[in-house]
Amino acid sequence: MRDLLIIFDSVRYDNFMAVYAATKWRKYGKVYKAYSHGTWTRPSVVSMLSGYLPQSEYGQPYKPSWNMLSPQVFHDREIPSWFLNSNAWMSKMAPSDYIEYSFLEGHSAPRIIERAKEITEMYHNFFIVMLLTETHIPYNYDPSVDGDHLNKVFKSYNNGEDNDAPWLARKYQKRGIIHLMNLVEPLFDLADRVFITSDHGDLMGEHHKVGHDPTFPFHKVLLEVPLMVIE
Ligand SMILES: [Zn+2]
Repeated sequence: MRDLLIIFDSVRYDNFMAVYAATKWRKYGKVYKAYSHGTWTRPSVVSMLSGYLPQSEYGQPYKPSWNMLSPQVFHDREIPSWFLNSNAWMSKMAPSDYIEYSFLEGHSAPRIIERAKEITEMYHNFFIVMLLTETHIPYNYDPSVDGDHLNKVFKSYNNGEDNDAPWLARKYQKRGIIHLMNLVEPLFDLADRVFITSDHGDLMGEHHKVGHDPTFPFHKVLLEVPLMVIE
């Protein structure tokens, strides 16, 4: 088994589709509309590390008995597992059976992808999960983006002020998706299967909110995420 599970943090389905429709990624196949197991990072990613991708018509590729949070089962099958992560919420839990459960601070997709490449060269079998945050508020992986300013605009909007926060969130998340697409594409030839999905969506104007704070009211866009399977 040579599997990569790539999670673009916070990417809502409709935003992903807008980018997908405008790029050459159509050649990699369809995008399933999937439903995440949680509306924010930790419950959703824990579900994925437990063997359950977001629900979709694609189904579940992993056997439920393969508890990836305790990848001893993977070890027994000689499938070493890695979780390469740049989300601080996930860094606080570190299952000991992973060969590597690293936390790379900041928007670190280039370093995470470089590490994944090294692993694919060193091991015949692997299961590598990558959680990439360039698509997460405040989208400040690019030095030209003033993340502090964006955070202020989003906070004011969430407190009731009318401003262009929803438009800005869509614009910058789409930029983040394109950025990550370009970075992860070279990995596709290194694995048998590549799963690309998200851990939850983001409010972008629904309920007059931007983001996915678990205290926000529920909206279905928080669960609607893309799922691509490239094999
Ligand atoms: Zn998240």
